[in-house]
Amino acid sequence: MTPADPKLLANIRIVLARTSHPGNIGAAARAMKTMGLSQLMLVQPHIFPNSQADAMAAGATDVLAHARVCSTLAEALEGTSLALGVSARQRDIVAEVLTPPQAATRVLSEAQASPVALVFGNETNGLSNEELSLCQGLVSIAANPAYSSLNLAAAVQVLSYELRQAWLQYPVWPQPEIDAAKLDEIERFYVHLETTLTELEFLNQGSPGKLMLKLRWLFSRTRLAQEEVNILRGILTAAQGAKRQANAARNHGPQ
Ligand code: SAH
Repeated sequence: MTPADPKLLANIRIVLARTSHPGNIGAAARAMKTMGLSQLMLVQPHIFPNSQADAMAAGATDVLAHARVCSTLAEALEGTSLALGVSARQRDIVAEVLTPPQAATRVLSEAQASPVALVFGNETNGLSNEELSLCQGLVSIAANPAYSSLNLAAAVQVLSYELRQAWLQYPVWPQPEIDAAKLDEIERFYVHLETTLTELEFLNQGSPGKLMLKLRWLFSRTRLAQEEVNILRGILTAAQGAKRQANAARNHGPQ
């Protein structure tokens, strides 16, 4: 039987957002290493590095030593083509909620082509809406509905375990169907979209409401290919050009 490819696990980032307790960072590193994961990204950890983190990591201090500290979630997701938010709470705005085994399959299949991320929230507040808006789907661990909030490192363990089981079970993964755009490319598209909608006076910056958030979820439901992002940006540029021409004609045309 073909052995599973270690490159797939190396392409999976475990991202911990705004972690309060350094002990949880260490325990998460240990959970990862027991399952063969190594890419830990910390977004604005409250305290890190720290002796409690080292103590809880036990034999996984190497994962901590290689952990990357980022100032924003966008930075931690740079270069990835898929990010799934891991959350106990199911938000009504999200299109897709995956079980851990479903998430493992998605993540491993995508990891063949590019880096991917699982994003875990803060111990008290979970993931913020802004953090969730950078993710393309949610993963929820079906726990006791009367008490569904696992310890952060325990949640990392559940997902890491599922990843390893899927990885061991299916050594060969089908190639992803599309050449998925990188998330930073998609973020630039959203900036372009917002600018254009403002210029077209469809979006009022004085009272933007949740328009941009809703549009983000709309595009998250379809996996955008790089070529599709290029087409969409071309359409935006054409719309901007037409609007500017119309404005110029109105300002300088015959009175
Ligand atoms: N009170 C927070 C829970 C935070 S627990 C909230 O309401 O969201 C810290 C992190 O562990 C969460 O952000 C999530 O990433 C993960 N987690 C805990 N329980 C989970 C569950 N049942 N399903 C998925 N993720 C969970």
